Amino acid sequence: MYCKYCGAKLKDEHADCPKCGKNNRLNSSDDAKDFRFALLGFLVPIAGLVLYLVWKKDFPMRSSSCIRGTAAGALLYVCLPVFIILSFVFGAAY
Ligand SMILES: [Zn+2]
Repeated sequence: MYCKYCGAKLKDEHADCPKCGKNNRLNSSDDAKDFRFALLGFLVPIAGLVLYLVWKKDFPMRSSSCIRGTAAGALLYVCLPVFIILSFVFGAAY
């Protein structure tokens, strides 16, 4: 295979061009911030975390959307029960 940017010959297993340094992996141009994956991570933090780990290398932008949504979702799921418990405890004290 040949580099699609500069035409240098590449070994298939080396996706990054040794000459110009650009990434020749398939679909790498599809990488973008994507709100849908952030939302998925928010609703299903485990799925967001898995997608982040899978995409971290090939789709850095998309995986960062995932991990942001996951972090927000995880924070909510951790904070919400704590908030409910605290409001119950303090509510019961009055
Ligand atoms: Zn190149």
